[in-house]
Amino acid sequence: MSRRLAALCLAFCLLPAASAAAATTQGGATHKVTPEGGPLDLVAVSLGQTEGKLELVLRSTKPITPQLLADAKGGQICTVFEQGSRSPRAVCVTRRDGQWQLRLRGKRIAGTVSRPRESELRLSFEPDAAKLRVGAADWYVAASAAGCAATKAKQAGQQRAPWSGLASVLASVLAIPCEYRLPRVGTYAGRVWRVVVTGCRRDGASQVSRGPSVKQVALTYDDGPSIYTAGFVRELDKLGVPATFFIVGQLVSARSSLARQILRNGSMIGNHSWNHANLGGGGGGASSQLRDTNAAIRRATGFTPCLFRPPYGSTGSDLVRRVRAQGMTSVLWSVDPSDWRTPGTGAIVSRVLAQTGNGAIILLHDGGGPRSQTLAALPQIVRSLKRRGYRFVTLTDLLGYSERVTLSK
Ligand code: ZN
Repeated sequence: MSRRLAALCLAFCLLPAASAAAATTQGGATHKVTPEGGPLDLVAVSLGQTEGKLELVLRSTKPITPQLLADAKGGQICTVFEQGSRSPRAVCVTRRDGQWQLRLRGKRIAGTVSRPRESELRLSFEPDAAKLRVGAADWYVAASAAGCAATKAKQAGQQRAPWSGLASVLASVLAIPCEYRLPRVGTYAGRVWRVVVTGCRRDGASQVSRGPSVKQVALTYDDGPSIYTAGFVRELDKLGVPATFFIVGQLVSARSSLARQILRNGSMIGNHSWNHANLGGGGGGASSQLRDTNAAIRRATGFTPCLFRPPYGSTGSDLVRRVRAQGMTSVLWSVDPSDWRTPGTGAIVSRVLAQTGNGAIILLHDGGGPRSQTLAALPQIVRSLKRRGYRFVTLTDLLGYSERVTLSK
C-alpha cells in the first residue's frame, strides 16, 4: 500500500488489505481502570501501531451503542495526544449520519472504526491524519455519553433552585457519571513509530512492460543516482507524486543518503545492474550483477528491491529467470520519449503525453548524461496527466505488490 495514497484516501475507503498475519506491530499494552458505573463505563484502553497505522482499542463494561456516541447530543470518545510543546491533538470517535466517524477539531479524518464486540470499539488511523509526528506521545482518553451536557445542566439547575435542597442532595447521591477519563489522572506513555520500508514482494508475471488498465501511471527514472537526482526528488515532493528510481549499483555508496531520501519520500527503488552492462544474454555474470546491486542498495538504505530493469532494455529468458530467482520482476516500459537523446523539454513532454494510457510505465532518466530537460519536463507531465485523471503511483503499487516494513524509533 502506498503511504502517500493511504494518506489521501478518504475515511472508510477500501484499501488493499495489508497481509495482517505478517504485519509489524509495536505497543498495544492494555491499560485498565476500575469501573465507575454509568452508561459509557470505559474500563480498558490500548494504543498500538501496525505498520503505518495507530490502533486504539476502547472497552466498556456495557455495549457502546451508536446512541451513546450520538454527535448531535455531544456523545464522543476522544483520545488526546500530547507531543512536547505542541498543542494537544484530540482524535474523537462519534456517531453521525448512521456511521462511526473519526474527527480532529470537528473535521472528519481518514481512518476506520469497527465494533468487533458490543462493548468494544477499534479505531485505526494514520498519524499524519491526526497531525501527529514520529516520537513520544503521551495520551489519555476522555469520553462523554450523549446527553451528558444536558444532564449536567439539569443537575446544575436543580442545585440553584432554593426549594430543592433535598432534591440536589438526592441528585448528587444518585448521579450517574456521564464523563470518563482514562487514566483518571495523568497520561499513558505512547509512541508514534517511524515506518521504515525494508523491501517489497514481487507477484504475478516475471516480466512486465505495463500495469493493469486503470487510471494509474508510474514514472520511472533510470541510471542514477547522479548530480541531478536530488533535483528530481525535490520536484516530485513538491508535486506530491512518487516515482520509481532504477539505480546503478556502483553509484549507490557515493549517494546513499539520497537513496534513503527517495524511500522516505514515498518513492521506490529498483535494481538497474551494477555497472549498466548489457545483461541480455543472462549467465552467472548477470546473477552477480543483480546480487551485488541489491546488496549495495541494502547497505545504503536497509531496503531490498523487488524490481529490476535491464540496461538498454536488453533481456532474454535466462536473464528473466535469474531476476525472478532473486525475488525480482523484470520491468520494461510502455512509454519512451527518448529523453536521453536530449530532444528538448517540449518534445519530452509531448511524447510522454501522446504515448501515455492506462497503466503506463514511463521511461525517463535521472542519470547517465545531462538531465535538466527531463527535470524541466516533470511538472508539465504531472500536471497534464493529472488533468486527464491519472494518478501517479510507484511501480510496486501499480503492479499491486506489497511492501515489507519495520517500525523503528
Ligand atoms: Zn539505463
